[in-house]
Amino acid sequence: ENVEVVIIGAGPAGLTLANLLQRAGIGCVVLERQSRSYVEQRQRAGVLEHDGARVFEEWGLGESVLAGTSSDGRLEIRLDGRPRFFDVAALTDGRAGRVVPQQVLVQRLIATFLEGGGDLRFDAAEVTPHGLDGPTPAVTYTDADGGRHEIACAYVAGCDGFHGVSRASIPEGALTTYTYDHGVAWLTVLADALPPRHALFGIHPAGFAAQFARGPRASRFYLECGTADSLDEWGDERIWEQLRLRLGDPDLPTGPITEKLFVEMRCFVADPMSYGRLFLVGDAAHIITPMGGKGMNLAIADANVLARSLRAALREGDEGPLAAYSETCLKRVWDHQEFSRWMHEMMHEAGNATLAGPFRRQLARARLERLFASDAAARAFADLMA
Ligand code: FAD
Repeated sequence: ENVEVVIIGAGPAGLTLANLLQRAGIGCVVLERQSRSYVEQRQRAGVLEHDGARVFEEWGLGESVLAGTSSDGRLEIRLDGRPRFFDVAALTDGRAGRVVPQQVLVQRLIATFLEGGGDLRFDAAEVTPHGLDGPTPAVTYTDADGGRHEIACAYVAGCDGFHGVSRASIPEGALTTYTYDHGVAWLTVLADALPPRHALFGIHPAGFAAQFARGPRASRFYLECGTADSLDEWGDERIWEQLRLRLGDPDLPTGPITEKLFVEMRCFVADPMSYGRLFLVGDAAHIITPMGGKGMNLAIADANVLARSLRAALREGDEGPLAAYSETCLKRVWDHQEFSRWMHEMMHEAGNATLAGPFRRQLARARLERLFASDAAARAFADLMA
């Protein structure tokens, strides 16, 4: 077999890239380790930012991907239980994001790609890239019946997440990696509980908490917790009691909890995001904590840059954009890492004084107040959130 591009991984990065390449008339195969139903049910992010929505619109995929989704233009910050509203849409001249749960995005991208005749192979085991530093790379894999396959290609897109095989195939020493641990832990809970009207952040001496819509009757909650905590210590009763307290809402709607897990509050960036004919996209190249909701959006932004660069290389004979791919993406990655870290500090330290001490708690509160007192500060914040 021979195709122009092999895409490893069918998450937001791989599926966005596959659809954009399809629109550009570039032949590709997507290899995904999991089953279709598994990837279609994986619940993670929930907001597609304005720029992400524009990527799909610009490529003529607006209707297939965004139909029926609502915009998410406001957020609420409850400081010690007192509500403060922040109108992102008004502060950015309408550049608000849209509520698109990650699994909905994935389902729509799979359906659109397959309807367009796309080649998407689930249950692909032992996916292995070869010859990445030469002119003719290939990817081998084993199908669900145990058959071995080899696909020769011009380029490989590593869209297989943080634990994937793509980055691991790059020789040690070819990448500089940066890691950062925030030193706090978050418990995240998915529940069939009525969502808040707007994204909700709770700042409280007992710790940070947040609630986001994940559908008309589902919410994702986050709770700051101890780094050594275990799930046994977080029974449903304690979760609801802490959420009511930190969100300052004694009548918080509850519902059956469908998922409970700890989130890694770790950041990682690989530089460059490429090696020979392999290009890393999304979580394969960088991870960021959920604060600010940037992970899925960075994956889509990378896929857009790569699709345009591959089109230039394969259709116009211009290798320039591909050579600049990593640098182009890393500028946005570091900008978002900085914002996420800035917001993380403010949201955590303004509440929990044991985290960084009373002095920094006052600084964090001043940082927060500035968002409501200064139009320029509010616009800068909204610009990074939108
Ligand atoms: P992934 O979604 O990880 O997809 C990688 C794909 O590759 C998977 O389907 C995997 O099965 C496949 N794969 C892996 N290894 C192989 C292999 N060897 N061979 C073949 N296939 C392979 N982001 C936001 O923007 N906003 C949020 O609010 C947000 N909240 C989050 C909450 C949680 C609890 C978590 C865990 C993440 C959250 N994120 C959020 C981050 C977001 O989910 C990720 O950044 C996003 O999924 C990255 O997409 P990706 O396609 O790069 O990687």
